[in-house]
Amino acid sequence: MPTADDLIAASRVVALPMRTAFRGITVREAMIFSGPAGWGEFAPFAEYDDAESRVWLAAGIEAAYLGTPDPVRDVVDVNATVPAVPADDVAEIIGRYPGVRTVKVKVAEPGQSLADDVDRVAAARELVPTVRIDANGAWGVEEAIEAIAAIGDVEYVEQPCRTVDELAQVRRAVTVPIAADESIRRSTDPMRVARADAADIAVLKVAPLGGMRALLKVAARLPMDVVVSSALDTAVGMSAGVAAAAALPGLHRACGLGTGAMFGRDVAAPFAVVDGRVEFRSIVPANDLPLASAERTQWWHDRLRRCHSLLVGG
Ligand SMILES: [Mg+2]
Repeated sequence: MPTADDLIAASRVVALPMRTAFRGITVREAMIFSGPAGWGEFAPFAEYDDAESRVWLAAGIEAAYLGTPDPVRDVVDVNATVPAVPADDVAEIIGRYPGVRTVKVKVAEPGQSLADDVDRVAAARELVPTVRIDANGAWGVEEAIEAIAAIGDVEYVEQPCRTVDELAQVRRAVTVPIAADESIRRSTDPMRVARADAADIAVLKVAPLGGMRALLKVAARLPMDVVVSSALDTAVGMSAGVAAAAALPGLHRACGLGTGAMFGRDVAAPFAVVDGRVEFRSIVPANDLPLASAERTQWWHDRLRRCHSLLVGG
């Protein structure tokens, strides 16, 4: 276990401009550090407390000091992500992900209608064999049931409603599979979703679960399919997601790891999608990265020290 001083001495705090605001974020701050096995990322969202952020630090330390678990496949199928754009723009967006066979379409956007969702999904369906939709928890139970009926057959509906209880209610009322994403934020959440019979698929992310190996353990215990995804990871965090997906036995669905084009500038070249897939590679960040201000850098150093002492203290 490295000391906090070790980690800080080998770190950089970057401030990456986002191409489009996501979760209200226009500049993504992340701390990245190198260790004997490569680079790790520590980038919990600003509002997360230390108890929750500690797990993200464990994931970064795993990547930098332990490295990746043994892969069972060379390449990982990924999905294209279509935001809540007009149906006419769908083809151009899917075209940014060469060869993808699975597309995730965002639905339930505030200010739009169900007809907009139906049209957008229909446009995607004409272009690829598999379409999944993501409501990001925006529907109520009745609204979700009505929308799912109108949209028709899809691979699955991700987070139709906000709560686990609501997911379970929707799942009982429809035949389309339900995936839990936002409902899984901590390592205890996947089993809670399973016990509530709230989902058919679990969307798992490396950092909030505490690392690649922690994700593999959760996946092994879950009585459902999993999809590995990233949130707002830099190429360093993304590489851990790709490595986890590459090491996951019984991965049957495309993963949400094709999202490297979110930053105006990433810490390294984003993972390229080739024939609908990405291949793991070790990331070495560029030397001339946009760095956070001295004040923000200090904030991240302090945060890392607090989370590190929580980790060491158990
Ligand atoms: Mg989602």
